[in-house]
Amino acid sequence: MIEMKRCWRCNVCNDIHYGIACPEVCPTCMQNNSYCEVSEKEARNMMGAEGGSGMDAAAVLSAWEKFAEKNGFMLNPDKEHVDLITKGVLMNESKFGLKLCPCRLRDGKRERDLKITCPCNFRADENWKEKGMCWCGLFVKKK
Ligand code: SF4
Ligand SMILES: [Zn+2]
Repeated sequence: MIEMKRCWRCNVCNDIHYGIACPEVCPTCMQNNSYCEVSEKEARNMMGAEGGSGMDAAAVLSAWEKFAEKNGFMLNPDKEHVDLITKGVLMNESKFGLKLCPCRLRDGKRERDLKITCPCNFRADENWKEKGMCWCGLFVKKK
């Protein structure tokens, strides 16, 4: 059986990878386990094409769960909070074409918008180090 190619985005440098599996180490920024699965449409958006990813909330949550699992952290156990963030991210995507962080203001500059596309590079932030969660509390460290 021929395996379908899938798409991933590095949450640190936005490198897009097409293949049967994503690399463990991003060849662009050298971060470990930084790839989160995205749809082909989202991969094209990241590279400048118009339109949303076409992923529904369940697909987004599943990609985030796998990304967290691979990295040894997890989604916030507060399901209502996670649902709220997911809605915000998908609303931003339908308005602006990218899964923008719902807790931070966009300034409309594409370069900055790409940096606040979810999942962002939250492990580099003080909040992650000090409070054990991303800025919005979507991803949390395991206790
Ligand atoms: S702070 Fe959390 S919710 Fe916001 S973009 Fe980063 S990972 Fe996503
Ligand atoms: Zn990278």
